[in-house]
Amino acid sequence: MSLYHGSLYWPTTIKDKPKYPKLNKDRSCEVLIIGAGMSGALLTYKLAKESLDVILVDKDRVGNGSSSANTGLLQYSNDKMLHSFAETIGVKDAVRFYRLCFNGMEELKRIAETLQDDIQFENRQSLYYASTSADILAIKKEYDMLKKYDFPIEFLDEDKIYQSYGFKKHAAIRTSNDAEVNPQKLVISLIKEASQYSNVQVFEKTEVQKLYYQDGYWLFKSEDAIIRAKHVVYATGYESDAITMNMATKLNRTYVIVTNPVSSFQQWEDRCLIWETKRPYFYMRTTYDGRIVAGGLDEEMMEAPKDPKILNGYANNLLTRIKEHFPQFQLQADYVYGATFGESVDGIPFIGEDPKQKNLYYCLGFGGNGTVYSAFGSTIIKELITKGEHPDADLVRLDR
Ligand SMILES: Cc1cc2nc3c(=O)[nH]c(=O)nc-3n(C[C@H](O)[C@H](O)[C@H](O)COP(=O)(O)OP(=O)(O)OC[C@H]3O[C@@H](n4cnc5c(N)ncnc54)[C@H](O)[C@@H]3O)c2cc1C
Repeated sequence: MSLYHGSLYWPTTIKDKPKYPKLNKDRSCEVLIIGAGMSGALLTYKLAKESLDVILVDKDRVGNGSSSANTGLLQYSNDKMLHSFAETIGVKDAVRFYRLCFNGMEELKRIAETLQDDIQFENRQSLYYASTSADILAIKKEYDMLKKYDFPIEFLDEDKIYQSYGFKKHAAIRTSNDAEVNPQKLVISLIKEASQYSNVQVFEKTEVQKLYYQDGYWLFKSEDAIIRAKHVVYATGYESDAITMNMATKLNRTYVIVTNPVSSFQQWEDRCLIWETKRPYFYMRTTYDGRIVAGGLDEEMMEAPKDPKILNGYANNLLTRIKEHFPQFQLQADYVYGATFGESVDGIPFIGEDPKQKNLYYCLGFGGNGTVYSAFGSTIIKELITKGEHPDADLVRLDR
């Protein structure tokens, strides 16, 4: 299965991508990380500083998986609202989960500040509006609950929304502490910096498969070599065998356009991230070079269509949605693609040790907040490996 079809934007922004060799002889390590996307990159970066011997492999080039299709909205708020989580998992765990996401955002900010490359990271607010009058109540409920538990949140009525953005919506909440990023640059930079540590080795074009567990080591084979590893982490994204592991996940397809640059965002206050209560939702953000990235129109099918004519049909729908908000822009879709998108059924990602296989872990960023999940997920996996525990590991465990 191909994870996306069409023309991606982020790869056009990347010059001088580092190259890593293909694995061609047997190796041993403490931690083998399979998959050099957002999850694998963050984990490698964190483990590099723990002085553990780490091998990171990817069957393709670094950062070419779903992380290159990611639209780069970083938000502590989830596709499932806090008050909805409270109804399914109870208030205490719902707040604990939102706090994990909030801390994941804080962690991403700290990392962005220390990376040497410019990863086009900007702090942003997010506007989440009621798509219909029927959703006003849910927005108010969400505002009350986020406020009660000290998350940075503001309520906007119809007038305030119109004043700030120039479009009419019934009600909205505005969260702070969010951000935008060039996700592919983030992945490439994390791996570049981690690979400078002598305890980290990175191999591209190296697909691996599990063989067996023997004498305290997992054995994995690639085309040309065997890797012996004490701990193994699957950071394989939507291509993982999560489905065969019976984790409750679903794979859909979604569409994205990136427009031509726009000369001024005067009526788009703070160039905040914008999304809505309708499902599937429409969302948009701006880029460092003044483009608009817009996405949505999700469908319950795994692989995106290949035919450019079909993709252009979706692009026109997304352009129409942007213009419903900002009719003043002269827009065309410079980049159009469709991509596979994975979610868990309960809205919580799957992160942790395999309950049946010792020292085998999964760090899977399933969900609209995949990057934030990869951020706190990589910390959980790091601590499970180095300390044997993490206080919030039970929330995201695989056998829940
Ligand atoms: C269109 C779209 C928009 C999105 N927008 C956002 C957003 O705005 N904000 C957000 O937070 N999240 C977003 N996401 C989600 C986000 O992209 C994912 O959560 C994230 O990319 C997952 O990263 P990953 O490292 O788990 O997977 P990937 O980036 O797919 O990396 C997995 C890697 O594993 C490798 N691999 C797989 N099997 C093997 C094997 N056997 N051997 C070796 N290598 C292997 C693959 O080659 C791949 O490089 C979006 C996703 C899509 C598709």
